[in-house]
Amino acid sequence: MPDLKNKRVITAAITGSWPTREDNPNLSITPAEIAEDVYQCWKAGAAIAHIHVRNDDGTPSTDFSKYQETIDRIRAHRDCDICLNITSSGSVDFGDEERIRPLQALLPELASFDAGTLNWQHRTVFMNPPAFLEKLGLALQMCSIKPEIEIFDAGMVYNAIHYIKTGILKSPCHFQIVLGAAGGMPCTVENLVFLKNILPEGSTWAACGIGRGHLPMMMATIAMGGHLRVGMEDNVMWLKGVKADSNAQFVTRAKQLLEINGLEAATPEEAREIYGLTRKVF
Ligand code: ZN
Repeated sequence: MPDLKNKRVITAAITGSWPTREDNPNLSITPAEIAEDVYQCWKAGAAIAHIHVRNDDGTPSTDFSKYQETIDRIRAHRDCDICLNITSSGSVDFGDEERIRPLQALLPELASFDAGTLNWQHRTVFMNPPAFLEKLGLALQMCSIKPEIEIFDAGMVYNAIHYIKTGILKSPCHFQIVLGAAGGMPCTVENLVFLKNILPEGSTWAACGIGRGHLPMMMATIAMGGHLRVGMEDNVMWLKGVKADSNAQFVTRAKQLLEINGLEAATPEEAREIYGLTRKVF
C-alpha cells in the first residue's frame, strides 16, 4: 500500500433526493442512468459513490427493487471497484424499515447516518429520532457497514459523540460535513473550522458545500486536510449560470484541484484503507 498521507478520497453524490431535471437536464434518474453515472465517476477518479434512487417520475423512491437494480448494474461492471455508500435517508416520508432494508440487503461499504433531526430545506422535518438512529447504528454494525455520519449543524456532532459513548457508533468514526443546507449551518470557512475541530480525535472527515458554496468549501476542505464530496446531490451548476454536463465533470475538477495542491485522488482500495471500510466481495 503506497503512502496515503497525500491521498484524498473523492465521493460522487450522484442524484440525492432534491434536484430535478428542471434544475439540470443531465441529472440521472433511472437505475441504468445512475449506474452508468457511477461508472463514469469512477473512471474520472471517484473512490466512493453515494447512492439515492428515484421513482420514474423523479420523486425519491421507496422501491427496494430500484436500489437493487441500481447496485446490481454498478456491480455488473466487473472492472469497477468503487466503494458504495447507500443513503438511509432517501425520503423524509419513509418508515424506519424502508430506510434500513436496502443497507441490510445490499451490503454497501458505507451508509449515511444523519445524526439528528432538522427543519429540512425550510419545507419539512428531516426526522432522525433517537429510536431510529439506535436501530440504524446497530444494523450497520451487524452488517459491517461504516456509518458516514452526516453533519448539518454542530448539535449533530454532539449527538454522534453521545452514540459513540453508548456503543451505537464505533470509533474511529467517519464524518461527512454538509454546509449550506437550508435549515443547517451555512457555507463559511469559520463554520467548517469549528465543526472540524469538535470532531472526536482519530475521526476521518469529508466536507461539502451545497449550491454556490460548493467550490469555496472544497478549497477550504483541501487546505484543512479533509476529503471531498462532489455531485449533483449538492450542486447542479458548473459555474454561475452554467449547468453541469455530468457528475464526472465535477469529479474531474476535484481531482485536478487536488493535483494542483500536490495531492492525489485516492483509489477505491486506498479509500477503504483510509476510512477503515470492510471490503465486500460479490
Ligand atoms: Zn445523500
